[in-house]
Amino acid sequence: MRFFGSLLSALLLVAPAVNAQAPAVKAQKPVASKATGRFNGQAAYLLTQQYLATAPKRWVGSPGHAKAEEFLQSHFTAEAAKGNFETDTFTASTPSGLLTMKNFIAKYPGKKDDIIVIASHYETNYPLRDINFVGANDGAATSALLIELGNYLRAHPPEGSSVWLVFDDGEEAIQSWSARDSVYGTRHLAAKWSQDGTLKKIKAFIVADMIGDRDLDIDRDANSTPWLLDLLATAAKNTGHTPNVFQNETAADDDHMPFKQRGVPVLDMIDFHYGPPTAEQPEGSYHHTDQDSLDKVSARSLQISGDLLVEMIHLISQHG
Ligand SMILES: [Zn+2]
Repeated sequence: MRFFGSLLSALLLVAPAVNAQAPAVKAQKPVASKATGRFNGQAAYLLTQQYLATAPKRWVGSPGHAKAEEFLQSHFTAEAAKGNFETDTFTASTPSGLLTMKNFIAKYPGKKDDIIVIASHYETNYPLRDINFVGANDGAATSALLIELGNYLRAHPPEGSSVWLVFDDGEEAIQSWSARDSVYGTRHLAAKWSQDGTLKKIKAFIVADMIGDRDLDIDRDANSTPWLLDLLATAAKNTGHTPNVFQNETAADDDHMPFKQRGVPVLDMIDFHYGPPTAEQPEGSYHHTDQDSLDKVSARSLQISGDLLVEMIHLISQHG
């Protein structure tokens, strides 16, 4: 993803002052949701480790990309057996020519007719294919987060809205970020679901991006839908994770935009302050570098992100 530039610089000026007033990290309270049991952050961390070991470099068209796809599919055999796992293969027109991409969708039927979608991109940045870039936080941790969320939902089926987990491809630019060269997977999915009527049923489209960051601070994204931002603040309060949410404001250009443009309520759960700022990279020095490695991700942050997503599923189901 990237920021809309002008707002970024303005927001960075105010961010330190806001941060200074942030309350100290406090002890976790139990998740105030109806579900019994809890999302397992440690398991999500181990899945991140396994995913990185299996497919450290996962740029579109690479052997690692195919291994990443196999890894994802292998964790959803139970859903596949029920006809609730979909592979969405498409051809994307990119600056490097036509590329085959795949989205995967794991479906957990609820008791209501509407759907909450939670998405993460699973590939690594294509322009960085020649450096040692593994995207531990940028793609891997959130893919693992969604796999573990699948494990949770298998044990605790949704009682309200259905939940669909989307592993989307081609979030990253192939050459340089533009509306035409980015978010290939979610652009394809939004168009497809618009045509087949699925889009009307989507109550919320949530993106998880870079929220395995061991120094977790989920930004308030100005491109997200206000009522979903409000619910995320409530979810943070209910789960005891308020210190990890909304200390910074951003305007993210990310996988949620194709759905926002089609009128779907969207929420980008992103922490773009990844690594200490430098003169060249005020938004975080680990982003899109070989510094984006497993040691920058933590089980605790994945626990927080998982707790928030589980609580968001309950809150959105009850909303309206
Ligand atoms: Zn990226």
